[in-house]
Amino acid sequence: MLSIVVLGTAAGGGVPQWNCGCANCRSARNGHPELKSTQASIAVSADREHWFLVNASPDLRQQITDNPILHPRAGALRHSPIAGVILTNGEVDAVAGLLSLREGTAFDLYAHSRVLTILDDNPIFNVLRPNLVPRRALQLDTTIDLPLPGGAPSGLTLEAFPVPGKVALFLEDESDTGEGDTLGLVIGDKASGQRLVFLAACAEVTPGIAEKLDGTDLVFFDGTLWRDNEMIEAGLGKKSGQRMGHIAMRDAIAALGDIDIGKRVFLHINNSNPALRADSPERRAAADAGWLVPADGMEIKL
Ligand SMILES: [Zn+2]
Repeated sequence: MLSIVVLGTAAGGGVPQWNCGCANCRSARNGHPELKSTQASIAVSADREHWFLVNASPDLRQQITDNPILHPRAGALRHSPIAGVILTNGEVDAVAGLLSLREGTAFDLYAHSRVLTILDDNPIFNVLRPNLVPRRALQLDTTIDLPLPGGAPSGLTLEAFPVPGKVALFLEDESDTGEGDTLGLVIGDKASGQRLVFLAACAEVTPGIAEKLDGTDLVFFDGTLWRDNEMIEAGLGKKSGQRMGHIAMRDAIAALGDIDIGKRVFLHINNSNPALRADSPERRAAADAGWLVPADGMEIKL
């Protein structure tokens, strides 16, 4: 059976974001601690003993502390249930947490070769010594059995596929968007046949994306913004959602409406998004359409 825990729900910056005075960030600081959320990541397991993380957020240390499933086994002097980390892109909010996993415990690191090149080009990531943390390149549209460190089967399968998106923000000036900059993932449980699709960044629901989602038990989908021009209207930025590689929530709800999906969960929710508030009309519209806006630490039961 697939076990899934949402470690963090927020887009880059989290809620509250350190330098943001928008309505949601102010509320999170004053009177509404339930709005506080760490940057997006999930943990997935087939046996509840060994967990694979999807992305390593800058908040990973706190997320490990907050989630007992990721604590060292009782009685072990050095141990971690984290068997691997799968990266879907090279943004700071996907890779910075790797630096918090540097204390000499083995795990496997999976990413597209373009993202591995970003890590290889930044010597600070050498704190993850390759003999302990091998970097494994994901081939697109190829399903693999995910092994545990040491080679035993984890019970999970993984397929990475290209998603319409954009190149990492800090590379925008040097590089065009290319295949592999943004990945979607299909993670399956071999024993039960259950599978989830992880699409926390997605600029457009193409026929290919719709096909990947058809019949899946669970989707984590890009919930960055409610409306495409939300950040511009709020005076928080100059870029639309589309410019940042994100389809708006309300457009995603419509685009995915007719697709056969078991559970629909938004992830990577920006602090500007009105659907963050449980009492907002936007949250109600999402819920009425069958979508969950999760909280940090929530387990999603299939
Ligand atoms: Zn804010």
